[in-house]
Amino acid sequence: MTESPRHKCSSCGRLTVEYSKFKCPKCKETEICRCYACREKHVPYKCTACSFEGP
Ligand SMILES: [Zn+2]
Ligand SMILES: [Zn+2]
Repeated sequence: MTESPRHKCSSCGRLTVEYSKFKCPKCKETEICRCYACREKHVPYKCTACSFEGP
């Protein structure tokens, strides 16, 4: 099986294969995943660890 891993978008909660992943700018521990749709719309995300919200 060669199914590509899916990641849950931190903004909309949908599973996505096209995403950008980065560390939370505040706690730098949690990895935030955002799908391209949310990134283009600048939908805010929320860190699950420290509740940091960012664009
Ligand atoms: Zn999204
Ligand atoms: Zn955080």
